[in-house]
Amino acid sequence: MSEKFDVIVIGAGPAGYVAAIRAAQLGLKTACVDAFVGKDGKQALGGTCLNVGCIPSKALLDSSKQFYNIAHNLPVHGITVEGAKVDLGTFIGRKDKIVKQFTGGIGQLFKANKVTPFFGKGKLLKNNEVEITGNDGAKQTISATNVILASGSVPIELPFAKFDNKFIVDNAGALDFTDVPKRLGVIGAGVIGLELGSVWKRLGSDVTVLEALPDFLSVADADIAKIAFKEFGKLGLNIKLGAKLTKAEIKGNEVALTYEDKDGAHEVTVDKLLVAVGRRAYTDGLLAADTGVKLDERGRIVVDEHNHTGVNGVWAIGDAVRGPMLAHKGSEEGVAVAEWIAGKAGHINLDTVPWVIYTEPEIAWAGKTEKQLKDEGIPYKVGTFPFAAIGRAVAMNEAIGQVKMLAHAETDRILGVHMVGPGVSELIAECVVAMEFKGSSEDLARIVHAHPTLSEAVHEAALSVDKRAIHKGN
Ligand code: FAD
Ligand code: NAD
Repeated sequence: MSEKFDVIVIGAGPAGYVAAIRAAQLGLKTACVDAFVGKDGKQALGGTCLNVGCIPSKALLDSSKQFYNIAHNLPVHGITVEGAKVDLGTFIGRKDKIVKQFTGGIGQLFKANKVTPFFGKGKLLKNNEVEITGNDGAKQTISATNVILASGSVPIELPFAKFDNKFIVDNAGALDFTDVPKRLGVIGAGVIGLELGSVWKRLGSDVTVLEALPDFLSVADADIAKIAFKEFGKLGLNIKLGAKLTKAEIKGNEVALTYEDKDGAHEVTVDKLLVAVGRRAYTDGLLAADTGVKLDERGRIVVDEHNHTGVNGVWAIGDAVRGPMLAHKGSEEGVAVAEWIAGKAGHINLDTVPWVIYTEPEIAWAGKTEKQLKDEGIPYKVGTFPFAAIGRAVAMNEAIGQVKMLAHAETDRILGVHMVGPGVSELIAECVVAMEFKGSSEDLARIVHAHPTLSEAVHEAALSVDKRAIHKGN
């Protein structure tokens, strides 16, 4: 007889481990199966996000920002530092320590909440049985009333630029360079390309980013993307739009790239190449042939609005299903599914999931872009406010960018907020709350915001929707 649980979660990324903890909190006997192996060869909980994604990339972004500021921002404050250097061993080591702290922390949370962890590859069989294959090949089977699939995603590989993780690397490789590459090529000016491209540029790499699409950051609002593009140019990121890579050849210690744009074929040689052209749902070996769980045309597990797969007791969450591939989206789905399983009223609203890109300046948004509103024929009003007119931003010497608010032309309900500038990763939260409560720009305009803070840009943008911003012409 296989050991029986109320809930088995396959995958311990931010979707899976959160689902497991919430299920256990609700009194359900819960197991979590994960196969991720950390840099030390041991099981590492936390999935992509904690091991090779959100957390390590933010650690490196912060370290590289400190270094960059010494030469580029401190002199304005009258502070000069001679001979600043980066010790890459310490730089990467600090990141590794943070990763270990957080991945280890999940093990402790599992213990505290009585979640039983299993190390190995989980495969869903018929009748909610899960076969686990350990690293040594040993197999065991457990079963549950409910199984939550949270197998996450992996980088998309280009057939003509396959990862060797020495010269042509994915996100994991670009978090662990042992030297600052003199010339770094990046394929894809998406979130990973911009964040990790920024890290290495700030440390002195000559960074060339090839983006296939003619528009920069087309997922963001066009006005925000335009400002960001200009700022990344000032940082020295050489972003080539409409540039399609056709060949990447490792020659000795270099990678020779060929790409095509509207002017024809070009060649560029780099020391390292980061390929960051998106991620795909990871379901390899996850499902036995007869489970009845379906995949869509992009390989994602098909679920309904309650993350149910349509197979009795089988649910799926996180990067492996539709919706944005973001840690917090997966975590909230995990909480909601655990609550639905326990007979409670789970809640997840994909329309208000915030996006943040942790570059300098930061980019953040929630809700619809102006283009989406136009395309959908929704009447809207726009309010904007520049950080150049925000006292706190000027005092910080970070008076770059703006807040842009879109509200319904008749009801004034906030439909989208888009920002580029200092601290916008935190400012977006206020707008998400307002949108979740179906608030109007008038609501935000009438709320007291502390002075002097960056949040005044949100307040003024809300006032500007109705052409009554105080600190700019309307
Ligand atoms: P994952 O985190 O991918 O976890 C899935 C886990 O399941 C993995 O441990 C995997 O080994 C395991 N697994 C898969 N199949 C099986 C199986 N059959 N058996 C056992 N285990 C299995 N998002 C943000 O919101 N903010 C950020 O700042 C951010 N930064 C990022 C930076 C980078 C460089 C990258 C690559 C991603 C970043 N993301 C960020 C995205 C974020 O990491 C993902 O959205 C998130 O990790 C998805 O969570 P998940 O639990 O669905 O999947
Ligand atoms: P992405 O979808 O953000 O960007 C990929 C980019 O590559 C796009 O601009 C696309 O047009 C371009 N592209 C695709 N094929 C190409 C080709 N052949 N040549 C040149 N360009 C090409 O994907 P990503 O940067 O790999 O990141 C994957 C996902 O991980 C993100 O979409 C996001 O969901 C998540 N992530 C989030 C954060 C964050 O929240 N701060 C950070 C990193 C990653």
